[in-house]
Amino acid sequence: MTELLFRDDAYLKTATARVVAVQDGAVTLDRTVFYPLGGGQPGDTGFLIRDNGDRLAVIDTRKGVEPGTVAHRIAPGPAMPEVGEAVGLEIDWDRRYAHMRLHTALHVMSCVVVAPVTGGNISADKGRLDFDIDLALLDADRIAGGTNELIARAVPTETVWITDEELDARPELVKTMSVQPPRGAGRIRLLRIPDIDLQPCGGTHVANIAEIGGITVLRIRNEGKRNKRVEIALKG
Ligand SMILES: [Zn+2]
Repeated sequence: MTELLFRDDAYLKTATARVVAVQDGAVTLDRTVFYPLGGGQPGDTGFLIRDNGDRLAVIDTRKGVEPGTVAHRIAPGPAMPEVGEAVGLEIDWDRRYAHMRLHTALHVMSCVVVAPVTGGNISADKGRLDFDIDLALLDADRIAGGTNELIARAVPTETVWITDEELDARPELVKTMSVQPPRGAGRIRLLRIPDIDLQPCGGTHVANIAEIGGITVLRIRNEGKRNKRVEIALKG
């Protein structure tokens, strides 16, 4: 198992860890600050730093083959670290922080557009949600205005844990039809934005929605019968 340090503190930019396995160009660690691709949020990039000073570029982070592990994909080049070796970890913070702001912005926007969410994705410069809704009901100005009004409330976000049974009793919490929360671990992580949003999410978020700053709607388009796509970017 890899201890997921970003779960408790999404603002950790560096850490030290021990190498557990090296396989197929990827390094598995006993703990990590690197978020692995999932829930529409890209895997982190950055560096693993060896004692000899070598900086190994992490070009992507994915969930490992072994359940509960994280695989850090390393760019070809310098020698890979040894199993048991201690390494420094450093994520590309500007990229990750953009993911955190956009990801949290999508939570807020999902409360402005009242419709089931059928998909979602973010990158460092834009994010999108797909809704099962009539295209004519999506208005860019109204969505941007409503989202920015909520962001201006500047409320702190909270992480809440509930049991599988509690989630079963409250199916309305699962807004994103394409991303079912992971079950079986006995407990599920929720993101709560007080008086705005509450839903299962394992991603990384900003501590206060004021950090989003504000959003603009880039475009709205038809991506299929149940997929009306709203694409947003951070303002400024
Ligand atoms: Zn989230």
